[in-house]
Amino acid sequence: MTKEVMISFAKELMSWDWKGYNLEELGWGLTLTNQTRALGKCTWNNSTGFKEIGLSKHLHKCTDKEIYLTIIHEITHAVDVEIRGTSAHDYVWKSLNLEFGGDGQRCANFSLPVELKYYFYCKNCYTKIPKTRKSKYRCSCAKCSPTPGFDERYELEFKLNENYEKI
Ligand SMILES: [Zn+2]
Ligand SMILES: [Zn+2]
Repeated sequence: MTKEVMISFAKELMSWDWKGYNLEELGWGLTLTNQTRALGKCTWNNSTGFKEIGLSKHLHKCTDKEIYLTIIHEITHAVDVEIRGTSAHDYVWKSLNLEFGGDGQRCANFSLPVELKYYFYCKNCYTKIPKTRKSKYRCSCAKCSPTPGFDERYELEFKLNENYEKI
């Protein structure tokens, strides 16, 4: 789905009645995050009253089911916070999540289809290894180098990914 459809889908779900809690009316905000590993997050601060569900801006590229499960995962945390004042991936959260149509899993068994900013490249076997940030160390290709540790002959080149979507 498009990013816009994902946002309206999430807002729609947040305004539903979840065990008597309408997250929209209760002041929960929705934001898109730059996360590339985590799919979503739930942030709250009981003293300031800050309440927010965050979804990775890359999440919309996942399947509808994966998007749904991620939103339900975070909605469960939010309702949990309303009920208990806190939330964790414990049995309370799990039973609530299952009740809401989630899969009860604390970690998603899928990842974001994201192009990372950099990659390591092996001139010998043409392997590309995605990287989120610059590496401080020189690395060699594990496939090509017969010895463990750094092997200068098969040093990986650090490159900028041209397909990387600017955040
Ligand atoms: Zn969680
Ligand atoms: Zn190689």
